[in-house]
Formats: sequence, structure tokens, C-alpha cells
Amino acid sequence: MIPFLDLKQINLKYEEKIIDIMSKVLHSGWYIMGEEVRAFEEEFAAYCGSKYCIGTANALDSLSLIIKAYGIGPGDEVIVPSNTYIASILSISANGATPVLVEPELETYNIDANKIEANITKNTKAILIVHLYGLSCNMEEIMNIASKYNLKVIEDCAQAHGAIYHNKKVGNWGHAAAFSFYPGKNLGCIGDGGAVTTDDEELARKIMALRNYGSHKKYENLYKGVNSRLDELQAAILRIKLTDLDNENNTRREIANHYIDKICNDYVILPKKPKNEEEHVWHLFVIRVSQRTHFQNFLMEQGIQTLVHYPIPPHKQLAYKEWNNLSYPTSEKIHEEVVSLPISPVMSSLQIEKVVRAVNDYRSQ
Ligand SMILES: *Cc1c(COP(=O)(O)O)cnc(C)c1O
Repeated sequence: MIPFLDLKQINLKYEEKIIDIMSKVLHSGWYIMGEEVRAFEEEFAAYCGSKYCIGTANALDSLSLIIKAYGIGPGDEVIVPSNTYIASILSISANGATPVLVEPELETYNIDANKIEANITKNTKAILIVHLYGLSCNMEEIMNIASKYNLKVIEDCAQAHGAIYHNKKVGNWGHAAAFSFYPGKNLGCIGDGGAVTTDDEELARKIMALRNYGSHKKYENLYKGVNSRLDELQAAILRIKLTDLDNENNTRREIANHYIDKICNDYVILPKKPKNEEEHVWHLFVIRVSQRTHFQNFLMEQGIQTLVHYPIPPHKQLAYKEWNNLSYPTSEKIHEEVVSLPISPVMSSLQIEKVVRAVNDYRSQ
């Protein structure tokens, strides 16, 4: 069986170092907001090229805290792609603001920058973009639109740690960015974790307080904050894995390039290689097949597990009943046809070959 993602194997690569550091943290007697979190924040900020990094409990909280810190709330609108993981949209709703869905491009699955301007109103405060599947959005165009209308750009980098667009890392293009360190992400811990990156000192200070009960100083509360901290153990593990992130992303690129070069089947639509390889970190390798279930069953018979990211578009979710009758045709087509092949830094060349052969052998009903 080729599992979609072998998380155990991914982490066992670092077994000795992880066990060492867990013991060190245990013996330190300090488990929340200590030296490991401070050091990780500094190292991750440096990695992204941002001035500030603030550890949080997860990416949904990171996004919500950015929106809250900007004072975006009821009556305000935030533009967001109509095909994203629901968390991007929930962060807007959680603050009482209105998500305004904008269709993606079928070629890249990222927000269609040409469709943003038509959705800007006098209530629009921000554009929340998502570097979906690991591919950087068209940031130059998006930043130009944002500056024309004086909007904040918030990047959801949960799937794109380390992607570089025009010589600048994602997480460093917009005004603020959110990262997830959920175990399955390109940089994942052994539990939940997240971060905000920004160059905005005032925003950084505010989020530093907001994540810790709104407190900048013990028992003094500036804001009505939340408890959303990255813990010492997770930060320590992330510090180990961060040193290998670029290597792992390169391995993902090699596998993606191999799939793109070797998979040849009229029933399968492959993702495009970006003009510049650095723009994609291949969190997911997403293809489109019109008879998706038939295809998934065929691959499963060959011992290959695939997953769908994602089967139901946000506007068709019961959580957003008010949108259920709206139509976003590009997003709906994507959700009906996408299927993700296994891609991970621990796949063997034999496994990669097996996936290529199975996909090439597939025939539609
Ligand atoms: C995983 C993911 C999130 C949420 O991350 P958590 O850390 O689980 O909250 C948000 N946005 C996107 C695009 C994601 O893939």
C-alpha cells in the first residue's frame, strides 16, 4: 500500500533529535512561552524574511487574530477565494465580518486576480489570499490592486511554507500572513501549531498580546484576547524540522516534476509547472479527472491511496446555508474533479514509479 501521506515516516527521520529535545524541554520545567518559542519565532521570521513572527496555536487562530488586530468586524467585507479550505473563510466569519467569495483560475486553482476589483465595495477592508496546494498567488498584481484601494493583504500560507515568488518568500508579500504547523503541512509539528508573520510592528505587538489573553505584561490586559499560544515542545520540534524544510520542499519538487514529465493520460489533467520552480512547494499534487470516484477506486485497487482537496466547496457547506443557492461554477468544477496523488519527502522512487504507472494505465468507464 502506498499511503497518501506517511506521517510516521516523515517524523521518524528526526526521531533522535526529537526525543532529545523533548527530554530537554521536560527537564527545563518551562512549557509555555519560553526560550524555544522565542527562538523559533526568531528563526522562522528570518527564514521568511519577515521582521516579526508570533507563534500561535494554529492557522485558523493566526488568521482570526490578524483580522481582529486590524479591527475588521461587522459591516466590513473581506475578499477570499471561493475554493479554499474552510478555515480561511471561517476566520472572517469569526470576526463578524462578511466573506466575499471570488472565483479562482482553473489553471492555477488560486484566486483570479482579474476578478478581484469587481468585488471591491466601500466596505472592503482586506483581501485574504490563499497560496493553495503550495503555489504562490500572483502577488505583484494582488498588491497593486490592494494599494490602489488601500486594502490590507492577508496571506494564508498554511500550504506554502518556503514558496518564493519573484525572489521574496510567501508570508512576506502581504501586510500579514498566517502559517499552520498541523502535522500534515510541509512544516508540521507533532500536534497543533501556527504562526503569524508581518513587518508591521504595531500589528505584531497587538497579536503578541491578543494570543495571550490580550496581555502584554502578566496580569495586565490591554485587549479582550484569547488563549492561542504555540507551546515549547512544538516550537522545539519545529526548530529541528525548519532546518530541513528547503530540502524537503526540493524533494517534493523533484517528485512533482517527475509526475508531470512521466504521466501521460488523456483522462487526466495535470497541474502546470510554474515558470519559476521556486513558486511551488507542492504541498499537494492535484490533478483533475472527470470520473473521480472511478479513478480513485482504480488506484486503490493498485494499492495507491488518493484524497480529495476538497470535495465540497465552502458555499455548498451547511455551515454557510445562506450561500447554498449561489453559483461559483469554476469552484464547483474544481471541487467535482480534483484528486490528490501521494507526494511527500519520504516516498521511494519505486513508489513514485508505481504511481506513474497506475495513473498511465487508467482508462475511463
Ligand atoms: C490547514 C489549513 C488551514 C488551517 O490550519 P490549522 O492550523 O489546522 O488551523 C488554513 N488554511 C489552509 C489553506 C489550510 O490548508
